[in-house]
Amino acid sequence: MGSCSSTPLEPPHRAPHSPPPRFSHELESASLVNSPDKDSYIASPPAEVPDPEESLESIQVIVRIRPSSQQLSVTIKPPSSIMITPPVRPPSLSPATTKDQAIDYNNFDRVVDDSCNNEEFFNVTLSKVLHRCLSGENVTVMAYGQTGSGKTHTMIGYQEDPGLLSRGISKLFDLLAEKPDVTATITLTVLEIYGEEVHDLLAANSTEPIRLVEQNGTTTPVGVMECAVTSKIAANDAVTTAIAKRTVAATQMNDSSSRSHVIVNFKIVTTTHPAANSTAPPTTKIANLAFVDLAGSERIGKTGTKHNTQTGKEGVQINMGLLSLSKVIKAFNESPNHIPYRDSKLTRVLKQSFGGNAVTLFVSNVTLQPSNYSETLSTLRYSSMASNVVNKVVKNEDEVTKLHRQFAELKILSKRMAKDLQQLSPRRLKHVKKEELKALLSEQQGKKRDSSKSPPRSKSPRVRKNNMPMSPRGTPRSTKNRIDPKKSPKKPTTPLEELDMNAVKVDLQTLNKMNEMNDALDTKSMFSM
Ligand code: ADP
Ligand code: MG
Repeated sequence: MGSCSSTPLEPPHRAPHSPPPRFSHELESASLVNSPDKDSYIASPPAEVPDPEESLESIQVIVRIRPSSQQLSVTIKPPSSIMITPPVRPPSLSPATTKDQAIDYNNFDRVVDDSCNNEEFFNVTLSKVLHRCLSGENVTVMAYGQTGSGKTHTMIGYQEDPGLLSRGISKLFDLLAEKPDVTATITLTVLEIYGEEVHDLLAANSTEPIRLVEQNGTTTPVGVMECAVTSKIAANDAVTTAIAKRTVAATQMNDSSSRSHVIVNFKIVTTTHPAANSTAPPTTKIANLAFVDLAGSERIGKTGTKHNTQTGKEGVQINMGLLSLSKVIKAFNESPNHIPYRDSKLTRVLKQSFGGNAVTLFVSNVTLQPSNYSETLSTLRYSSMASNVVNKVVKNEDEVTKLHRQFAELKILSKRMAKDLQQLSPRRLKHVKKEELKALLSEQQGKKRDSSKSPPRSKSPRVRKNNMPMSPRGTPRSTKNRIDPKKSPKKPTTPLEELDMNAVKVDLQTLNKMNEMNDALDTKSMFSM
C-alpha cells in the first residue's frame, strides 16, 4: 500500500467526487426553532444577527485503515476513494450474490492507509484546521468505528507516538506563541458518557453522574469542573489524569477496550490587541476545540461478552448511544426535517458537530480483517452518509466585540446613506417616505426590477402614467423637487449631511441590511425626517 496521501484537507469543502451538499441542518431547522436543546454543550450559541463571516462546510470524513495481519482486498484511489472487496466465499456456500461484489465509496475527503503513523495522520488532518480556533471557530475531531479499529490509537495514541489530542494541544500553544498581539484563556473540561450517564472526569468524585440541562438554547453540563491550562505540559497532564479515570474493561477483541465515550473540550478565548497607535478596540473570539473518542460498536458474542454479564449489558447501552448517532447521521440523508438529537446524551452533546456550528473532522477507523468485513462495511456506509452533513461555521465573538463590529458596520452604512441622502433637496427629504426613498434610490442606480413603465414606487406614493409623483392631495408634484442624481450636493442642512461624503452610493441591499441589523439606530426616524 502507498503512504499517506498528501492532498490537503483544506480549503476544499467537498471532496472532488462527492455529491453536492444536500442540506444544512441550520438552514432546514425551522421545525426545531422551539426545541429546547437547540445547541449543544460543545459550541457557543449561534450569533443573533447574520454573520458576514459564516460559512457552510461539509463534515470532513477521513477514513483511516489500521494495520492487520490478514487483509481484505481493497483499492484506494487517493485522496478520497476506497473500493473494498468482500471475503472470498467458500465454494460450499450458495452462489455469489450482489453482496459479494466490491463496494466503492468515493465521497470521503481522504483515505489514509495503514502505513500512516500518528504524526503523519495529524499533519494531514487536524493540523490543517487548528488555526481556525484562534479566529473563533469551533473545531471538533472525533473517531468512529468498531471496537479495535484504532479510535483510541488515533485520538490518544501512546507516549512514543501520541495521538491527535496531545499533538493538537501542542500545536495550539505553538500557534498562540506565534501571535504576540493575542492573549488567550484556555479552559478544559473532560466528560465521559458511559451508557446514558454523564461523568465529569476532572471532578474529584467522577463516579457521580452529572446532569445536562438546556439553557438559553444550549446544552450545558451542570456543575462541571473547568480547569484553566496555561501551557501544553499543564494541559497534557490534566487530560492524562482525567482520561485515566475512563471506564475500561477487557474484551477478547481489545485488551483495553474503551467502554465509554470521552469528550475533551478546550474553550479558547482569544483577545487580539490593536497596535499601540490604533484607536480600534481589542477583539475577543471564543472557540471550542473538542476531541471525541467514541466507544466501539460492539457485537455481543464477537467480543466474547454475554448479555447477562456487566460487560454484555454495557455493550448494549453503548450500542444504544452509537445507534442514536447512526440515526442522526441517517436522518440528515433521509429526513432532515427531524434530526433525533434528543434520543441520547451522546447525540445531545454532539449536536453542534453534526449540522451545527463547528468544523468537524470525522475519522472513520476501519480494519481490513476479513472477519470484520460487515462492521467495516457498516462503518464506511455511515461515514459516507456523514460526509453529506453540512455545518454552518461562524466565527464566535464575545458580546462586546460583536457590538463594536456591528457599530462599525452601521457607521459605514450611515455614511453610504448620507452620501445618497445629500443628493435629495432638503424640502424633498422632509416629505420622502421610506418606501418612496427605496424606490427612488433603486431608480437612481438603474436597479428597477421592471421597465420604466412600471416603477417600483407605483404603490406609494401614487404616480401618474408619465411617472411624475403625485402630491398626497392628488395634484402633480413640482418637478423641481425630483431627484437629479447628477446634481451636485447642496450645503449640508441636516446632521446626516455632515457625515463623511466620500462613501460609495447606497443600494437596496445595504438599506435592507441596515434595517435588519440594529434597532439601536432608528432608521424609521431617519427616513421620515
Ligand atoms: P479502538 O479504540 O477502536 O477500540 P484501539 O485504538 O484501542 O481500538 O486499537 C486496538 C489496537 O490496535 C491497539 O493495540 C492499537 O495500538 C492498535 N492499533 C490501532 N490502530 C493502529 C495503527 N494505525 N497503527 C498501529 N497500531 C494500531
Ligand atoms: Mg477505544
